[in-house]
Amino acid sequence: MANYPPEITPAEGGRMTEVIKDWALAHGLTVRPPPAVVAAEVDPKEILATAVPVTLFPSPFPRVCFDQGVAVQKTYNELYASISQDEAFLTQVVKEIGDSDNFITELWKVHLRVKEEGYVQHKSLGLFRSDYMVHQDGASSTPQIKQVEFNTIASSFGGLSSQTSLLHRYLSTTEYPLLEKSVERGALDLPENGSAAGLAAGIRHAFIEYGPPTTSHQKCVIFLVQGGERNIFDQRRLEYELQQSQEPHVPVFRLAFSEISQHTSLAEGSGRQLLYRPPQLPSHTFEVAVIYMRSGYGPSDYPDQSAWEARYHLERSAAIKCPTVLTQVAGTKKVQQVLATPETPSNPSILSRYLSKDSASVSSLLDTFTNIYPLDETESGLKARKIAADPELCKGYVLKPQREGGGNNIYRTSVPPFLQTVPESHWPSYILMELITPPPVKNTILRNGNLEYGGVICELGIYGTCIWDQQSKAILHNEQAGYLLRTKGDKSEEGGVAAGFGCMDSCALV
Ligand code: ADP
Ligand code: MG
Ligand code: MG
Repeated sequence: MANYPPEITPAEGGRMTEVIKDWALAHGLTVRPPPAVVAAEVDPKEILATAVPVTLFPSPFPRVCFDQGVAVQKTYNELYASISQDEAFLTQVVKEIGDSDNFITELWKVHLRVKEEGYVQHKSLGLFRSDYMVHQDGASSTPQIKQVEFNTIASSFGGLSSQTSLLHRYLSTTEYPLLEKSVERGALDLPENGSAAGLAAGIRHAFIEYGPPTTSHQKCVIFLVQGGERNIFDQRRLEYELQQSQEPHVPVFRLAFSEISQHTSLAEGSGRQLLYRPPQLPSHTFEVAVIYMRSGYGPSDYPDQSAWEARYHLERSAAIKCPTVLTQVAGTKKVQQVLATPETPSNPSILSRYLSKDSASVSSLLDTFTNIYPLDETESGLKARKIAADPELCKGYVLKPQREGGGNNIYRTSVPPFLQTVPESHWPSYILMELITPPPVKNTILRNGNLEYGGVICELGIYGTCIWDQQSKAILHNEQAGYLLRTKGDKSEEGGVAAGFGCMDSCALV
């Protein structure tokens, strides 16, 4: 479509701002405002919400790329379920990351302790999100998606994303046809987006897979969250979706990571059932079937040893974890780098180890990889060290530590001076990745009541849900579960919505 998205007049922008703010608040497309924004006289007990930053229009997105991401998701689910079961491979990865990364070291210790006494729960739940950007070699070549990263813990925005798709669908029938440069009703191809329902269905399946309670208590699901979470409505949407089906009824409780030991215990005996006592119901106890972690992915959730003990306590319990420590480690950028390392005669691709029976699947995954290098003393590591030290070459790269949640990467010309501050023995805990530069798109972003028009960069996330059994190696559930489109101004390096740089968007397929 020519000249889409249209540039709008200030009057049109003013009207759309009002329409979007109302729709967002009425449909939970909201976040809690930052504490600094909340006026001092507002009672902190009063619930406050503000519209999330969104694009005024769904950004144009190549249909071939969207289809490619959807098509490959179940293979990715299967791959990460397999990696989670390959303890020998993950042991090697943790060794290569090295002791300088205390977070990964401590995390791995949790696994080793539980392994020593034996796991009592062999089923695992993955709520995954594979993130991509569009890559195009030349204007005439077919665009392709290239993977930015694969998330195995706390993959967020599935609750808000299906709402954003609904917002844009609503605007396409009400507001866009009224614009000076009208976008006719039905002119946009807006794909269905079942992210909230799909992720909730994954949790519901795990709840069922847990089987009947083995204590005298009713089963429940715990959302393990951070204190003061601003992105709470994203999480609440999944909780409300879970209640959409009456059978089974799924009681959900939110528990702060810092309060695990206060409110949970393990049942006596060898079953290690996780028992939860809701503070608001002193005489009730629940048997936890599923722990869905929206916390615990970074060092700030583990301020002291007692927090690590709390994670260990959950890990050794009989609850189905989303994710286990093994799956969390499978989601490190180091694993992504090893997967993306090209095959050589002496070093066969590890992808074929996991998907050996299906060469079409392997090549569909390979198509989504971009160059990622280790920073170790191997041949490709030494090549990467040269790039990372060179003021010109480094301009096409991003340096990543083994961290999640945004704001941790080092970009372009900041890489060489940054590495000089890091002892060389710690370099192997980073990976160096080629930057993906998608073709230019323009859109208007509504953020905090202000409109910003200009070049934007879109990142597509495809959600997947997977349940597997570590013991029998069986995959019990494997689904693609909707999508996320996150958009940022083209001057910003990071795109996290929660981190304050990006905004919610949806796809208009072109
Ligand atoms: P995190 O786990 O913290 O989200 P990411 O690997 O997703 O880490 O990086 C954060 C952001 O940095 C991404 O959302 C994207 O905007 C940008 N980014 C990361 N890797 C690349 C890349 N290879 N090319 C372009 N942008 C990237
Ligand atoms: Mg990311
Ligand atoms: Mg991530």
